[in-house]
Amino acid sequence: MKSLINTYNTLLEEDITIETIEKNINQYNIYPQSIYQKNNSILFMVKHYNTKYLIILGEGPLLDSFEGEFLSSTKGKICPTSHVNSKLLRKYFPFTSPVSHKNHSITLGLGDRLGLASIGHIRLLKDYDVFPVLAQQSIRELNLTSRDYNDVLDSASWAVFQEGYDLGFGADGDHLKTVEEVQMALDCGFTMITLDCSDHIDSSINEFTEIEIENNYLTIDKLIRDKLEKKYLNKTFSISDDITITFKDIDFKKIILIYLDTIQFTTQIYNDLIAPLGSKIDFELSIDETLFSTSIEAHFLIASELIQRGVEITSLAPRFYGEFQKGIDYIGEKDKFEKDFYLHFLVSKHFNYKMSVHSGSDKFKVFPIIGDLTKGCYHLKTAGTNWLEALRVIALKDKKLFREIFQFALDNLEKARVYYNIKGDPNKLPLLEEISDENLIKLLDNDDVRQILHITYGLILQEKDYKDKYRFKNHIYEVLNTFEDTYSAFLINHIGKHLEKLKVPKL
Ligand code: ZN
Repeated sequence: MKSLINTYNTLLEEDITIETIEKNINQYNIYPQSIYQKNNSILFMVKHYNTKYLIILGEGPLLDSFEGEFLSSTKGKICPTSHVNSKLLRKYFPFTSPVSHKNHSITLGLGDRLGLASIGHIRLLKDYDVFPVLAQQSIRELNLTSRDYNDVLDSASWAVFQEGYDLGFGADGDHLKTVEEVQMALDCGFTMITLDCSDHIDSSINEFTEIEIENNYLTIDKLIRDKLEKKYLNKTFSISDDITITFKDIDFKKIILIYLDTIQFTTQIYNDLIAPLGSKIDFELSIDETLFSTSIEAHFLIASELIQRGVEITSLAPRFYGEFQKGIDYIGEKDKFEKDFYLHFLVSKHFNYKMSVHSGSDKFKVFPIIGDLTKGCYHLKTAGTNWLEALRVIALKDKKLFREIFQFALDNLEKARVYYNIKGDPNKLPLLEEISDENLIKLLDNDDVRQILHITYGLILQEKDYKDKYRFKNHIYEVLNTFEDTYSAFLINHIGKHLEKLKVPKL
């Protein structure tokens, strides 16, 4: 901290103006887009030995509010990017607070597991007509990265400030399953809630015989059954000029048995926690974490019931035909996906919400279909692919570290399969010692490698050595902080390919 204070004391010797600061960008490691003038102060962000700070120069309320160390003259302060300061940043600079994305057609979820990817995301997306949900983490990801929602949001706020990006961003509490989880995300200021209903979907019904379905259906409260039958049984609904949906006897009963609890649970969460906050929250329903694809009839009935019960749905994620595996391209017949996706899209249009595509990274084969059929109105989530780009930086800049990480991932693959279901096969890979340093980076283009590294991130980040120190984590952060611009460039390239295939228009 001393050398840091000495460095910035010399800036105070000059007459402080925006021009002086801009002249000294390189000498003081100032982020050029982060220079602001507000309430008699000049503020900007710097990087000092791989740590970022906010510098406030000039007297005023900001100098007094933010926590940090005064420079010798007391007309300046060096402030850490702590949670206290993050909250003040959001107060004084409202564009660093997340907002609802309701009026935006294309919205993109960008899980930033390490809290370092938003810079690259912003540098890319600022030129496109797309609203970024920069902060997006599931509880599983929080646990595996040892982070909390404050930290996830704070990282996004500082990135937005550093890059001078004031077009708005969202924060998604992703795949939340309980009242407590939803409440926690809302308390931290998250603007999007993705409710994961997988614990309230009874998949076992799929194995039932017709008689079993009949018998089980009769155990549902008669009043509930009567109401639903009156509305749907043998009724036909049109979702476009020439496409209709009819609820035939046994299919109808099966849908009710599988999803009635989903409908009731979602309504309760919405009424208790989301509705009181009005339309500030984007509410997404996720029924995608199942082994079977969601039928069009089930999608229609769930949406219809929720809307009648007053639930305002911003987006809904069904499980589509085919496989959306993490970090690799779509697996399945493209024609069948196109038909299935189109019908789901018609249902979403009928009820006036967006389709949400989960595990949406790297699905280049079907991106044009998604972009075209929705006429550019959808939500798409990516997460792990940003972590893989981080590893690409390490494969380029610290080959020894990359080899150690990859070997560790191979040795611990079975443990990671508990959290994630993938097909990645280590037996298909060439031996690590036979791969030259130059070719290491190409491993990140191999589907098996991508999946293996995709799911082992938690184990990699949490692994400790015999001295109880992180074996990889600090080293990974050091490399990525040192080569921040390389990481951004890789993300611009990789996520840029997504935008191109999705045909996202430029601003
Ligand atoms: Zn999902």
